[in-house]
Amino acid sequence: MDSTMQRTPLLISSLLRYGTLVHADQKVITWTGEGSRSITYRQVGEQAGQLAHALRSLGVTGDQRVGTFMWNNAEHLITYLAVPSMGAVLHALNIRLFPPQIIYVANHADDRVVIVDNTLAKPFAGLLPHLPRVQHVIVNGPIDAETHAALQDPAHVESVHDWTELLAGQPTAYDWPLDLDEDSASSMCYTSGTTGNPKGVAYSHRSNYLHAVTAALALGARQDDRLLVVVPLFHANAWGFPYLAMAAGASLVMPDRFLQAAPLAAMMEQEKVTFGAGVPTIWNDLLRHLDTSPADLSACRGLVVGGSAAPPALMKAFQTKHDVTIIHAWGMTEMSPIGTVATPPAHLEVGSDDYWRYAASQGRLVVGVEGRLVGPDDEVAPWDGESVGELQVRGPWITGSYYANGAESEVERMEMESKFQDGWLRTGDVGTLTPDGFLVLTDRAKDVIKSGGEWISSVDLENAIMAHPNVQEASVVGVPDERWGERPLASVVLRPSATAGVAEIREWLATQLPKWMLPERWAVIDEVPKTSVGKFDKKVLRKQYAAGELEVQSLD
Ligand code: ADP
Repeated sequence: MDSTMQRTPLLISSLLRYGTLVHADQKVITWTGEGSRSITYRQVGEQAGQLAHALRSLGVTGDQRVGTFMWNNAEHLITYLAVPSMGAVLHALNIRLFPPQIIYVANHADDRVVIVDNTLAKPFAGLLPHLPRVQHVIVNGPIDAETHAALQDPAHVESVHDWTELLAGQPTAYDWPLDLDEDSASSMCYTSGTTGNPKGVAYSHRSNYLHAVTAALALGARQDDRLLVVVPLFHANAWGFPYLAMAAGASLVMPDRFLQAAPLAAMMEQEKVTFGAGVPTIWNDLLRHLDTSPADLSACRGLVVGGSAAPPALMKAFQTKHDVTIIHAWGMTEMSPIGTVATPPAHLEVGSDDYWRYAASQGRLVVGVEGRLVGPDDEVAPWDGESVGELQVRGPWITGSYYANGAESEVERMEMESKFQDGWLRTGDVGTLTPDGFLVLTDRAKDVIKSGGEWISSVDLENAIMAHPNVQEASVVGVPDERWGERPLASVVLRPSATAGVAEIREWLATQLPKWMLPERWAVIDEVPKTSVGKFDKKVLRKQYAAGELEVQSLD
């Protein structure tokens, strides 16, 4: 029997039209350093219309790619909405990748037009000669004549435009096409390429729409929210925030390039931020800043933390010192990205041991995402909270393959295909699932430390070390060991006020953990190296250790 329901395609333009019409007075606030500038969702809709007309006038048609090289600000949000809504494909470039990787990614995606923030125009001008397919550059904000000339210089660049001038005079209404296929690509994102070239994922209108609605539900986004989007719009589809804000009608606070703890605290206080999103490093910095420079965070009910494991010590400190709930979430670029969100079951008393066990887990699978654990023997492991396996996932916003343009080598193609098994995505993450669908990750498969017959979770060790009051940050990697194959190396950043050294920290750790887990190798470092999206860069630590660049103390 056929249903009698209307068949309406799920399109980004539906989210754009809904948000800018029904929630027209909501705001996008962009931090400017001293204060902020603000536009309404109505204006977002009008400028999105103008941008779409302008892009058409530059020849953008069909599914051509429009790249961005921008911070999180109102213009980036407008681009996020306008480009897919007109049928083109948005590609937010990761401004923090190494130049060869940015060049690879922009060429691989075939970006034709790139929109660039004025504060990033100079570094972009250095990349542009290597991006032969880029015909137009649109600059958001004023630039000097020299930078303009550098952008205009490569022969393949037809013209360089100023955002405001380009949009001025364009009609504010755009007839967003309704006959787009909901399965066609709306945007794309590349992984940060921890090994080899970054891999591209093409999201569809449908996947983004369904992800936005589910993310809004799972995170409890509300119309009275003011969401601070610290996660860059180029990282893992911005965790869905541009689209979920439209769905929930929540206002947005965009930090632009002011990502240090002091401006973040200032914008949270001044803009009465209610909820935010970012990787643990950001919130860890903020927490330390607040210890010495208090700010009023009373409007803030929660911060969603993902991208790497949220240390329980961080979660508890925010809760007890600032009454801010850290909501742990897990996902991947390949998953749009949200897979799990750690909202403890409602019957648990806040602050009880059981509550923290759930809150500190990676979270419960969200509706739409199916998970299975595959053990070392390729057997599917039960959801008993104990059996360990690699997590595999499937669902409507999980990619079924990586984006390929035909130029990939045979090895790359095989590597890309190896990430899928019978319609499931292999996440490369190892852990357990409880009977009620909570995921506890022990590690990334490649970071697990294989010591003799035991597997040691580098994340468990990091969390345990970071719970010591004298430790600011700690990262643990496996290093070769003659006797055990591999043993943990702990690299520790001490707080400026630290009274204990690593020997005392190790002694203290011995009261918390079994002896076989305790690292014998310790290094005190100034800062844990970070990846382009602010995660601990274990690759760099391993290299530094192998090259003898770390001052390692042996403690037994
Ligand atoms: P990249 O692979 O370039 O680092 P992603 O942000 O897509 O970019 O990385 C996804 C990976 O990040 C996951 O497979 C997982 O290993 C890690 N990750 C994400 N969220 C969490 C979390 N809450 N806890 C532990 N690891 C996480």
